[in-house]
Amino acid sequence: MIKPDCVRNKHVDEIRKIILAQGFSFVKEKDTKLDVASAKSFYQEHNGKEFFPSLIEFMTSGPVHPMVLEGEGAIKKWRALMGPTDSNKARITAPDSIRAAFGTDNQMNCVHGSDAPESAAREISFFFGDDKQA
Ligand code: ATP
Ligand code: MG
Repeated sequence: MIKPDCVRNKHVDEIRKIILAQGFSFVKEKDTKLDVASAKSFYQEHNGKEFFPSLIEFMTSGPVHPMVLEGEGAIKKWRALMGPTDSNKARITAPDSIRAAFGTDNQMNCVHGSDAPESAAREISFFFGDDKQA
């Protein structure tokens, strides 16, 4: 998912090009916006953490662009391409990553990636329903 900071800064097309250049294909994508209830549900694993309220405020601050990416080892590959959570750390340890290039800090970090097949299934269903076809 391309997060509100990166949609706002008009980086969607550039990030899509990077994704294609890395050999992923797009199964589904759309423009949408999270309301407070859906953002809380999406990030339920972080409910109760100190940064949760500001994460919800950030994630509901503007449109997002969820995408279903397909490719060999897609989960690991996409998370490597995103770089570490903290964009400032990414600029040091993963300078070629998307967060290094487009992220601001450890919250406004431009992109989200599912971290396991189970969360990918849940998050695909969250945004696109149970139909996994293109
Ligand atoms: P994502 O789940 O969005 O792909 P991630 O797996 O790298 O990112 P998580 O630890 O799952 O990171 O945190 C989810 C999101 O919450 C982060 O991407 C970031 O936007 C925000 N976040 C995480 N840690 C912090 C923090 N310490 N302060 C502020 N925001 C944070
Ligand atoms: Mg995560």
